[in-house]
Amino acid sequence: MGEVRLKIEHLCKTFGITKAVADVSFSIKKGEVHALIGENGSGKSTLTNMLTGIYTIDSGKFILDGREVHPKNQVEANKEGISIIVQELGTLSGLTVAENIFLGHEDKFTKFGIKNTNLMNKMATELLKKYGFDRIKAGEIIDRYNFEDRKLIEIVKATYFEPKIVVIDETTTALSNEGRHELYKHMERIKKAGNTVIFISHDLPEILEKSDTVTVLRDGVYIDTVSSKDIDEEGLRKLMVGRELEGDYYRKQFGESVKDEVVLSVKNVSVPGLLEDVSFDLHKGEILGFGGLSESGMHEIGKAIFGASYDRSGEVITSDGTHINDIPTAIAHSIAYTSKDRDNESVVMNESIGDNICLPSLDKLKLKWKFLSDRAMNNFANEYAKKMSVKMVNIDQFVSDLSGGNKQKVVLARWIGKDSDIVVLDSPTRGIDIKVKQDIYNLMNGMIKSGKSIIMISEELMELIGMCDRIIIMKDGKISGEIDRSVEIGENTLISMMV
Ligand code: ADP
Ligand code: MG
Repeated sequence: MGEVRLKIEHLCKTFGITKAVADVSFSIKKGEVHALIGENGSGKSTLTNMLTGIYTIDSGKFILDGREVHPKNQVEANKEGISIIVQELGTLSGLTVAENIFLGHEDKFTKFGIKNTNLMNKMATELLKKYGFDRIKAGEIIDRYNFEDRKLIEIVKATYFEPKIVVIDETTTALSNEGRHELYKHMERIKKAGNTVIFISHDLPEILEKSDTVTVLRDGVYIDTVSSKDIDEEGLRKLMVGRELEGDYYRKQFGESVKDEVVLSVKNVSVPGLLEDVSFDLHKGEILGFGGLSESGMHEIGKAIFGASYDRSGEVITSDGTHINDIPTAIAHSIAYTSKDRDNESVVMNESIGDNICLPSLDKLKLKWKFLSDRAMNNFANEYAKKMSVKMVNIDQFVSDLSGGNKQKVVLARWIGKDSDIVVLDSPTRGIDIKVKQDIYNLMNGMIKSGKSIIMISEELMELIGMCDRIIIMKDGKISGEIDRSVEIGENTLISMMV
């Protein structure tokens, strides 16, 4: 141990005007588990996706064992001895387990243009056996297996050829305890063989236990590399969040503004294939959180409440007894919704900031001024853009030119302008830098203090724990657990309900 395996030099990647990875340099050694941590959106996946040929590099270098490598795709990366278990599902539907394991390497089994499927299945079976995953059958179509098993298959796929570097991108959150232990076992094995694991996880205790070294990124910028034995959770959190935000990042008090009054009742809501018999009440002044794996149905909850689901059954009722079954009724009854898919559903990209902010409030603006004047719209849009401190040239600028964080501010500005009583936010801080996140959290605090109610759907557990009065966890379309903020909760409590 001690010898350098990978040198990262002045690495850069931008998407539009987002600097996802900004001039990052550090080294990773042979025979170590090197953790990469940082808040959501800090650039971890972008960095490792460049290493593994999924994204192209804008500028900078990867030097592997003293030689510059520049893989153009995952197969080329494999040939250089680099592999990855990606954050999302990394196996392909419709192919067998064996075909997935050997994807891109079929030439091993092909002679005179004919694929020897028997040989491929035989080798895959041997590998599965060696890994102790005997119950997974090489010849089965992969769709027969659940998310967790498919992740185990990815472990085989990414490690069977003894690569020099294996990237594991936020895999453990999706795994049960047994799944995690399988993964840890193989991380240990890779390390013993003198190879390297780049381990991305947001579970700090896990990071401290399983890694030798930790590198911290923040907003795409390299912050520090520390030895795991020289730091604790608090120290890591400080590096991730940045000292200046310490203390007032999330909410301090919980439950203070929550009233008994129910503002929205969701009763026995089902959406075929997505939600099954979901019921809950939202209270005045409450932030109610929804968490789960991304396929758990939690994102559909927001749509169901906003009357935007197809084929929904069950009831969504406001405090005055109105049944919400379509979007116009939802808007007319002071319900606001921001989608996870900001670019496609929430903002009109080819319209100006001003038009976007005014859109849901056109009725109100008409009522006040009898007709829609440009001046009224300008004033209104300027007022709320300013309130949200949207970074822009002026309100005539197109939304498509803004950074992710500023787009999100425009989305929020329009609903705040509308003065909605019930605000459903799906992944409001996804891919947003930490300063804008804090603005959004402050705004949410202000909203509940003035008697509004919020539903916050998020894949970030820390954010749910930090912001919500109550958290509901979804699994397979159903509610699998509910927890009050007053109880001492950690991410692991929630994860155990998710998987
Ligand atoms: P992390 O893995 O640390 O959560 P990412 O590397 O996924 O962070 O994202 C870093 C930043 O780059 C975020 O602002 C994100 O929105 C942006 N980003 C990542 N991938 C893309 C993409 N394919 N297109 C546009 N923006 C992206
Ligand atoms: Mg990521």
